[in-house]
Amino acid sequence: MAAILNSLLAALPRKSYRRLVSGLAPVTLTFGDILYHPGDTIRDVFFPVESLVSLLTPVDGHLALEVGMVGREGMVGVPLALGIGVSSVRALVQGAGPALKMSADRFRTELHAIPALQAELNRYVHTLMAQISQTAACNRFHVVEARLARWLLMTRDRVRSGEFRMTHEFLSHMLGVRRVGVTEAATALQRRHLIEYSRGNIRILDHAGLEAASCDCYTVVRDMHDGAVYSRIPAPHSPISRPSSIPAPHS
Ligand SMILES: [Zn+2]
Repeated sequence: MAAILNSLLAALPRKSYRRLVSGLAPVTLTFGDILYHPGDTIRDVFFPVESLVSLLTPVDGHLALEVGMVGREGMVGVPLALGIGVSSVRALVQGAGPALKMSADRFRTELHAIPALQAELNRYVHTLMAQISQTAACNRFHVVEARLARWLLMTRDRVRSGEFRMTHEFLSHMLGVRRVGVTEAATALQRRHLIEYSRGNIRILDHAGLEAASCDCYTVVRDMHDGAVYSRIPAPHSPISRPSSIPAPHS
């Protein structure tokens, strides 16, 4: 079997994954496409492979703020995993590329049939909620330069590349600031030789330096994701070993 490039699907037992495969259709997501608007019925879920989807909350009709992002670690359409058929956010493709699509009907059927899929989605929804909460606090308390650094690192991790296309206008929606604010922050990071930014192309030059320039929100969310992966409730007689950096719970 070919490598499974979406890590949520890759975490499933092979038997479960094999059952799912016939319902997964490869699609290519196009930059700027909107998969759902708030209030839309969710007709399909998407598992990004090398694409990135931004979750935005529209405000006052003409403004929108990014509240979360979904890449190869997750799924677009999580309300369905909670039994809700309607999207509360705008799901906008911000990184073009391949994804796997499944119809909502098939997804509901598989969710009932495969307990491991529901368990994996529970963990994912938890980490997505953590990401959304952290983003809310970040947008209120941290300066644009640190937020831009966080956003670049989160994007890098999801597209697994230090180079991607992004316009100032798009970034201003992602960060909830005016274009001039984005320009200033990007110029500051560029002056510190952390990134290179020209004609809508961003390249990370110094990964460690960019992490140092980011607020802690980046590592908080990243570690929470790792923690959720390692803190799976072990099945009886199958203890899961923990990495030494994550303390075992008190007994
Ligand atoms: Zn922050």
